[in-house]
Amino acid sequence: CGVFGIWGHPNAADLTYMALHSLQHRGQEGAGIVCSDESNIYGARGMGLLPEAISQVKLSSLSDFNHAIGHVRYATTGASELSNVQPFIFKHSKGDIGLAHNGNLTNAEQIKLALESEGAIFQTSSDSEVLGHLLLKAKSDNKLANFKAALNQIKGAFAFLVLHPEQMFVARDSNGVRPLMLGKVDGAYCVASETCAFTAIGADYIRDIEPGEVLVFSHDGLLEDTYTTNTESHMCSMEYVYFARPDSEFRKHSIYEVRKALGKQLAKEMNVEADIVIGVPDSSLQAAKGFSIESGIPNEQGLIKNRYVGRTFIAPNQTLRERAVRMKHSPVRDVIEGKRVVVIDDSIVRGTTSKFIVKTLKNAGAKEVHMAISSPPLIHPCYYGIDVSTHAELIASDKSVEEIKDILEVDSLTYLSVEGMHEVFSQFDSKGECNACFTGNYPIEIVDHLLPEDK
Ligand code: 5GP
Ligand code: SF4
Ligand code: MG
Repeated sequence: CGVFGIWGHPNAADLTYMALHSLQHRGQEGAGIVCSDESNIYGARGMGLLPEAISQVKLSSLSDFNHAIGHVRYATTGASELSNVQPFIFKHSKGDIGLAHNGNLTNAEQIKLALESEGAIFQTSSDSEVLGHLLLKAKSDNKLANFKAALNQIKGAFAFLVLHPEQMFVARDSNGVRPLMLGKVDGAYCVASETCAFTAIGADYIRDIEPGEVLVFSHDGLLEDTYTTNTESHMCSMEYVYFARPDSEFRKHSIYEVRKALGKQLAKEMNVEADIVIGVPDSSLQAAKGFSIESGIPNEQGLIKNRYVGRTFIAPNQTLRERAVRMKHSPVRDVIEGKRVVVIDDSIVRGTTSKFIVKTLKNAGAKEVHMAISSPPLIHPCYYGIDVSTHAELIASDKSVEEIKDILEVDSLTYLSVEGMHEVFSQFDSKGECNACFTGNYPIEIVDHLLPEDK
């Protein structure tokens, strides 16, 4: 998912809309904006891409508010339905709350069961709703203290935005798995999952919000605090590899450069003779460029992407994904024909994309197809908010590289090593990363077993 929040700007809703538009790659199933006018909370939410989810009429009905949070949804837990689209609004006599979450909680089921046994009634099947209940249940009038106490009860990966009528709270989990950035536009502070949202609205990127950090925005300006000092940095490797936009920056480094370096490292680890190297557009073009620089094999554009097909991986079921992949990539015959081709992709999840790409390149006359992946084999599910959900879906979970090579009918298959990937991240001021889906080393305890295979 993608989140954005802005405090104290006369065009808060419009800017949120523009920012969400630039974060659309992080979620295409639903979107929403919730605003405050100091005394009340109002919002608009809908299913689908932003323009479908929030009409211009709905957006203009929010034009009088100075504070806003927004969300684009990518379903990891909870069904794809309107009730799960965020930001949520909680109506309460102590004051309404708007809430937006990117990530996935690993003890939400446990908390939910405890709250239900005390009489709570949940409105959604989303893990994010528990934070709202914890906030509203608190006895104290000190909202910040309540927020920090609630954050200390939840486990998992999160970037949370909470909008009270007169304050906005923001928090990043103590492992910093999901990104969250601080910016400023026309004197107003804003936060976003990625810095491309700042670029889209003309905001300055100030800094990354740190693991365990809590920020409070109000009439008194910005208050910087923490909910815990027991922190470690485990930024999601897949954000670097695949998920984030290449023009976004984490720790002041472009994802573009990180991906190029992953491609260079991959070339160092692979021994192949070939005529051209091509990337699977768009997410692997930078890695292909890096691979080409390091190996000396010329980089060509051998696959063209139909820009009107959305992110295929994000399509909610396999039939839709296969159809989308076929519509999405088309070969350039003159580039491919008679060539020994190295094709770079950022990752193989189910193998849907790779299988199709290999077939396409062979049909276009490639003499040899060597597949190189700019991340290690995805073996384990993600419990932290990226939809690499079950072992059964992951082609590498029970198959060797050799077996996958045969399934894909490719001449050779090479994955980047875990060490090589880490080596690259360290060049870019990474404070440490999560690599659990490659290694099984989960940095955050998984209390619930929410995933279908475990149910
Ligand atoms: P596959 O087709 O093998 O199931 O998925 C691989 C393709 O989906 C790659 O082209 C990659 O760009 C994209 N992808 C890989 N991993 C992820 C992920 O964790 N989340 C999303 N949304 N897309 C992914
Ligand atoms: Fe990212 Fe993988 Fe860790 Fe999930 S398990 S947070 S996808 S690195
Ligand atoms: Mg791709």
